[in-house]
Order: sequence, then structure tokens, then C-alpha cells
Amino acid sequence: MIEFKEVNKVFHKKNESTHALKDVSFTIEERDIFGVIGYSGAGKSTLLRLVNQLERATSGQVIVNTHDLDTYNKKELRKVKKDIGMIFQHFNLLNSANVFKNVAMPLILSKKPKKEIEEKVSEMLKFVGLEDKRNQYPDELSGGQKQRVAIARALVTNPKILLCDEATSALDPATTDSILKLLKNVNQTFGVTILLITHEMSVIQQICNRVAVMEDGAVVELGTVKDVFSQPQTETAKDFVSTVINTEPSKALREAFNSRETQNYTDYKLFLEAHQITQPFITQLAEAYDLDVNILFSSMSTIQEETVCYLWLRFEHDAKFRPSDVESYFAEKGIQYEEVHD
Ligand code: ADP
Repeated sequence: MIEFKEVNKVFHKKNESTHALKDVSFTIEERDIFGVIGYSGAGKSTLLRLVNQLERATSGQVIVNTHDLDTYNKKELRKVKKDIGMIFQHFNLLNSANVFKNVAMPLILSKKPKKEIEEKVSEMLKFVGLEDKRNQYPDELSGGQKQRVAIARALVTNPKILLCDEATSALDPATTDSILKLLKNVNQTFGVTILLITHEMSVIQQICNRVAVMEDGAVVELGTVKDVFSQPQTETAKDFVSTVINTEPSKALREAFNSRETQNYTDYKLFLEAHQITQPFITQLAEAYDLDVNILFSSMSTIQEETVCYLWLRFEHDAKFRPSDVESYFAEKGIQYEEVHD
């Protein structure tokens, strides 16, 4: 659906050049809700602007819907652009136009018949839950309502792709929640592929199925949301995950329970999926090998509507403990595990 192939973007300003995107390669599949997360300056906006053609890549290819944008002229690009809707952090509504006209604007600009405009705009206002606000002006709406108008406007031309630029960053948590639900509904109802950029991991956790973590212009981690949440590889990804989920005991706690003189134990951190949480596997394991096991840490969270659990276990090194028994037991149960080395 959207493919970035070894994309580089360098901005030149006077004597300074900024390498905003560095060899970025990944693919967004049809119907994905794909999240790109990174700190400010990581290159997220630049990436998004390549898709809707506000910027051109310095090298590499950006392919949207099988169209290679870098080889297209302006007329061809305009055609591709018709399949792309966009929403913004600050909504970008026309304050002088009422809700109906704001949503209708793309259809008015492409000179659609009045009847078609009336039908389509009414349908979209109903979809976003603003039928009763059609004659109001943006100033009279809350932030969440403004973003609903913007979503209706973005969808009124039946785009295949929706780009979301920090779409919930200006909203309070409850409103963010309702807008994210609406975006998920857009994806499911109309089959729209969503590419969103954010600096909030909670957004990724709530609606995305895949995620790219960006740092300093490069994609440093890429995968399903569950993979990145269960086993973040980079410090940046770990930091983002830890903003929403308590995945491990704090350093102070670890120091406290590691302070014994003799370190006769092995610690494992585990990641359990919903169906594994309901199994009494700790007692089964302890009984099977007659082991002493201690739960050091546990926390549960929800990723894409699925409950998951982060668990740390400590096994005492007595005569019965053999790492191979424990590890093959985890493997047999399909449990993701990692030995902890402090
Ligand atoms: P993010 O969206 O993750 O905050 P951006 O894509 O906006 O990051 O910016 C990435 C880098 O590119 C930053 O160092 C930024 O200053 C630089 N940059 C972005 N746009 C321009 C531009 N038009 N001219 C010069 N530098 C730019």
C-alpha cells in the first residue's frame, strides 16, 4: 500500500544540511493502522510529508498504491493524492465556514453536484456523530468535535489512505480515547489504511497493529505492536514502552532484592499472552521439577484489546534446579522468556 525503499531526505539551508531521513525502508500493508513513533526531530513529519507529496525524497523510492511518486509529474501526483486524506494536530478547519461547509469543501472544490455533496456530507457527519452540529462554526466546538469534523472532511472523498499527524496530541485523555476509537472504526468500516505519527506510546498501544520506532532520521525498530511491546530491542523503544506499561521492577527495587551476598539464583523475565495468563503454569513447573520459585514482579496491561502480562521469576539454585528444565518448559508452553543479567 505504502512502501518506503531506502529513502533519504536531506534539507539544505544556507551552509547547513540536515539528514532528516536515513535509509528508511518499510512497507505499510493495506488496512494496517501503522504507527510511527519518535521524539521531536526524529523525522516523522518529514516521512508523512513524503506520502502526501509536500516533500520529495532526496534519494530512494516512495510507492503509494503501486504508484512510484518520484517518477510522477504534477498531474499524475494530483491523481494519487485523491486517494489520501489527512488530519492534523490543530485540525486546520476554516473558521469562517460552518461544519457542513468544512466537510463539503473537498467536494465543492472538485465541483461535485449539490445533491451528491448533501448526501455524502450528511453520511459522514452521521458517521462521526455530529449530525446536530452541521450549522455550527468551528469556534463553537470542542477540540474533540473539531477533530471529528476534520475526520469527516478527510473521508468525504473516499480516500484509501488516511494520514494522521499527531491527531490527538492537542486533546485531553478522554477525548483522545474517543477519537482513537473513531479512527479504528474508520479503518474497519471503510477499509482505510491509516498511517499515523505520534510521540505518545498510548496511541500506538490502543489502535495500531504495526509500529516503526524512529530516532535521528532512522527506523531503529519495526514490528507488530505486540512484538515491540513484548521485546523492545532499543533503549528508545524501551523508554516509549515504559511510558505506558510497567514492564519491569524499578532499579531501586532490583537493587533491594539483589542485595544478598550469595547470588544463588537465576531470574527470568517472561511475557505472557492472554491464553497463557489463565494457565497455572508456575505451580505446574514448580511441581514437575520440585523447584522453589519466587515471583519478583508482575504487571498486566492491554495491547490492542488483548490482556498481556510481564512477569519476573526467580529460581533458587538448589540441587534440583537445572536451567535446561525450566527453559524447555517455557519453550514447550510457547512462553517468551529471557534470562535477566543484572
Ligand atoms: P519530527 O516530526 O519527528 O519532529 P521532522 O521530520 O519535523 O521530525 O524533522 C526532522 C529533522 O529535519 C529535524 O532536524 C528538523 O529540524 C529537520 N527539518 C524538517 N523540515 C525541515 C525543513 N523544511 N528545512 C530544514 N530542516 C528541516
